[in-house]
Amino acid sequence: MPEIRQNMATKQWVIISTERARRPEEFIDLSHRPVHESLPAYDPDCPFCPGNEEGPDMEVLRLPQGADDWQVRVVKNKYPALTQDGERVRQFDGVNRSISGVGYHEVVVESRLHNTTPALLEVEQLNIVLMAFQTRGVVMSLDDRIEHVIYFKNHGPRAGTSLLHPHSQIIGLPVVPYNVRGRDEEARRFFDDTGACVYCAMLADELKERSRLISENDDFVAFQPYAALSPFHTWIMPREHHPSFLMVSPVSIRRLAEICRDILRRFHFGLNDPDYNIVLRSAPVKAWYADHLHWYVSVIPRVTQTAGFELGSGMYINTALPEHSAAFLRSIQV
Ligand SMILES: [Zn+2]
Ligand SMILES: [Zn+2]
Repeated sequence: MPEIRQNMATKQWVIISTERARRPEEFIDLSHRPVHESLPAYDPDCPFCPGNEEGPDMEVLRLPQGADDWQVRVVKNKYPALTQDGERVRQFDGVNRSISGVGYHEVVVESRLHNTTPALLEVEQLNIVLMAFQTRGVVMSLDDRIEHVIYFKNHGPRAGTSLLHPHSQIIGLPVVPYNVRGRDEEARRFFDDTGACVYCAMLADELKERSRLISENDDFVAFQPYAALSPFHTWIMPREHHPSFLMVSPVSIRRLAEICRDILRRFHFGLNDPDYNIVLRSAPVKAWYADHLHWYVSVIPRVTQTAGFELGSGMYINTALPEHSAAFLRSIQV
């Protein structure tokens, strides 16, 4: 019989379709050619390749600072979802509410190379990418108009990317989105009931149970959540309770780079470079000290597609057992 599992933190229900479950190997797309084999290292038409940098008004951060041979750049999105100038103005006529679209929309160029991907980068390079995330996150958070910052990466067409050069994005929003507020409220309820952080409780359970663990280091644990939304859906959770990514020490950032690389290499080599999304979930800007929130990274390989059922119910069907997916990823040599 299928099993319907609930994620304690998000309250999302997932149908774990044990009877339709596929073996982990069945999700590998063997026809796919990884980016490092199918693309050139430099593309003269790519705006993110070295030598094609747009004017200085678009660049917001370069690491190392001022270096011609930069390693990571952060630039304003050419087609931003939100605009940086203007006041945050709310309007409400009793039925319809709106707010002016102020905010930030930036692109983190993760490498000088056009045909690489984080799984193939060195730890030091990923460390610089994460430092750029944190630096820009702090700047956005100090802007009083900003309520929430989203850090994410789309890798491959199924994950929604339009540009091939390895990059991720940061969006600073003038509102706390509904999805984030719902999680905040659930975590607050758990804290009220138990006096504990729900994410710390889940992490302690995973460390005790161990069947869904993938890898760990001194500061982080990577596992498939009990109610994983899709095959290989992975959480990378800091052992130390903290609501905000912005407070993480440089030593921990480096360990985050190490475990992110480890997980992405398991995907890259074990599943033949699947499309994926990465989302770094940090507390809303003005809740950085909240006891009940806990920042973490979610990695979602796009090996299956969501459709009407997911849209209509907000529920997911996972056609792989999280315990099997985790065992498969543990077995991949990186
Ligand atoms: Zn490029
Ligand atoms: Zn916690």
